[in-house]
Amino acid sequence: MTTSTVKTNLLGLTQQEMEKFFDSIGEKRFRAGQVMKWIHHFGVDDFDAMTNVSKALRDKLKVIAEVRGPEVVSEDISTDGTRKWVVRVASGSCVETVYIPQGKRGTLCVSSQAGCALDCSFCSTGKQGFNSNLTAAEVIGQVWIANKSFGSVPATVDRAITNVVMMGMGEPLLNFDNVVAAMHLMMDDLGYGISKRRVTLSTSGVVPMIDELSKHIDVSLALSLHAPNDALRNQLVPINKKYPLKMLLESCQRYMSSLGEKRVLTIEYTLLKDINDKVEHAVEMVELLKNIPCKINLIPFNPFPHSGYERPSNNAIRRFQDQLHQAGFNVTVRTTRGEDIDAACGQLVGQVLDRTRRSERYIAVRELSADSDLAQNAANTN
Ligand code: SAH
Ligand code: SF4
Repeated sequence: MTTSTVKTNLLGLTQQEMEKFFDSIGEKRFRAGQVMKWIHHFGVDDFDAMTNVSKALRDKLKVIAEVRGPEVVSEDISTDGTRKWVVRVASGSCVETVYIPQGKRGTLCVSSQAGCALDCSFCSTGKQGFNSNLTAAEVIGQVWIANKSFGSVPATVDRAITNVVMMGMGEPLLNFDNVVAAMHLMMDDLGYGISKRRVTLSTSGVVPMIDELSKHIDVSLALSLHAPNDALRNQLVPINKKYPLKMLLESCQRYMSSLGEKRVLTIEYTLLKDINDKVEHAVEMVELLKNIPCKINLIPFNPFPHSGYERPSNNAIRRFQDQLHQAGFNVTVRTTRGEDIDAACGQLVGQVLDRTRRSERYIAVRELSADSDLAQNAANTN
């Protein structure tokens, strides 16, 4: 018989959890802050490097704890400064993280799940099925890895990562506890010190979890709308059959009003040729959103093999944008970044072990959702 001690991974613990951990091992709570700064500000994973922690405690920590991020499979840097990491998570699948610099702003696009169960018809992640939820350590680990690559600076000085968007692989609200814990760490001064306005969660519309979210955190919200009526949205975003538009928009409004200050909802709308890109759709959208303070991001569809969809012409995109703009909406259209390292929208590749289809093999995924420009657009709001 083999016995092995499972070490506690300190990387994904919020301040509260870290304090509890030190309590549970008979140590003072202030150790939590010390250790968190080493981990998140300085990217340290070796307890011996934590020089303001006593030798005795460091030795104790080495036996019972660890600081373990996901394994970095590759890191690429684009000529335009965009960076992309492929990381392997505990389930064996790989997910991607993308960093997009723009002026003084640097936006990190983070994944929440390997694969996705929601099966939106135009999304390659959805087409691959669901494999696993990322742990809190794997979600915040993506920020940790990116921050380290910039030389890990304390949250109080100028940072490379100013914004985080949960727009990578997966539906963040279906991995609720781990994503919320990780977002707390993104905002915590002992973590990455990013303002709540600059951390954005994107959802396809898991209504009960949008309501739940407001009880836990006050990050910015982006809604993947993609259709201005239920009939079309049922086809594109199947979760709409369970939580139709009226219900969904009401829950988003409740969330936004729970923030208690002037914050606007981001609406994401992937434009699909001859499907949802006509003037009549824009007109319907104006009516649907007329009482909702929001900013609209239009994302021209990024094709992948056998998707069955096409990207609209530039004229059609402009026409759609103009229609919304004339109605008074703030509308942006995606532009492409990081193409030379396959980090642009529609170019990301992950590997998901497809559990939902009971397949034993790894399936290459063209991962579209970590859309660098979409991410940048969302960040522009904040
Ligand atoms: N699951 C969440 C977050 C990840 S997806 C959500 O759906 O909101 C991030 C964004 O990329 C979503 O708005 C998604 O609809 C969009 N997207 C997915 N596939 C796309 C494609 N092929 N082209 C353009 N945008 C796509
Ligand atoms: Fe999942 Fe979002 Fe893709 Fe829909 S668009 S399948 S919710 S990752």
